[in-house]
Amino acid sequence: MTLALRSLRTALTGMALAAAAFAASAQSAGELNLYSARHYQTDEALYENFTKATGIKINRVDADDAGILARLRSEGAASPADVILLVDAARLWRAEQEGLFQPVKSKLLEERIPAQLRDKDDGSGSAWFGFSTRARVIVYNKQTVKRDDADTYEELADPKNKGKVCTRSGSHPYNLSLFGSLYEHLGAEKTEAWMKSTVANMAREPKGGDTDQIKAVASGECGIALSNSYYVARLMRSTKPEDREVMEKVGVIFPNQATWGAHVNVAGGAVAKHAKHREAAVKFLEYLASDDAQRYFANGNNEYPAVPSVKVANPALDALGAFKSELIPISVVGANSARVQQMLDRAGYK
Ligand code: FE
Repeated sequence: MTLALRSLRTALTGMALAAAAFAASAQSAGELNLYSARHYQTDEALYENFTKATGIKINRVDADDAGILARLRSEGAASPADVILLVDAARLWRAEQEGLFQPVKSKLLEERIPAQLRDKDDGSGSAWFGFSTRARVIVYNKQTVKRDDADTYEELADPKNKGKVCTRSGSHPYNLSLFGSLYEHLGAEKTEAWMKSTVANMAREPKGGDTDQIKAVASGECGIALSNSYYVARLMRSTKPEDREVMEKVGVIFPNQATWGAHVNVAGGAVAKHAKHREAAVKFLEYLASDDAQRYFANGNNEYPAVPSVKVANPALDALGAFKSELIPISVVGANSARVQQMLDRAGYK
């Protein structure tokens, strides 16, 4: 073979390889249908970066958690959903029970996401993975309540706090998960007794969201309330004078620091049961565990990254400081949330 011929042949082989590689990437590129209950400003960058890195286009269906679940149920096997993002272990657990997810086995996700922040793995993989965390904190009115009287969840039920406690509805997933956590730490009997005594301590019937509880604590209508940490952080970062005033009046406590630690929950993701783009869906979950995506995902809602080595620069979270979190698996909390639900009626917890 002459030199010219050989180099022509090399060139042709190179072209064939390049063409094959292009075909492969065009094939794997494609798209991904994402049903998301999370909507934050940083989402755009989060999704764009994934498309830039993989060529996979993301089609989004934005709804709240209940809307997404209703849609998945009615679509059944015809659902175009590939990836589902939901908030709180109580909801993730329910969706898994309803058969809306499929298990994912991923070495990368197992390495990056701590075991207690994902669904149990019986060998075939986990049905869902937590990608950010939030603590259920106690806020108190600094003028009417002593910090020492409200630094554990148990104290919400203590007679010394009569007429002071406010929470959103007991059947909201954030509270069901907290009660599910208490169930794990205290047992069934004590948890139900705790519920009854907490109801007896209430300043008013449960109403509104977590932010409403914080504002009612600041106004003095309530002395002590429960809130997810990101609502506190959001008010701390607000430039509105009325929000600044609210945060001057309330103190924030990460409860149970001397015992099991603050209740921590997750926002998580899963591959849909009937995903048509399974490979892309797993790739997307793995992307969410990357350093950059972790920062976008967590910081967009003033949450903590699920991957322990990732740190976010967030002035409110910095000001709140480090804390001890409970270590029971969040999947156990989710399962318990169904057990405590039936206690609400007996306890009179609205
Ligand atoms: Fe929320």
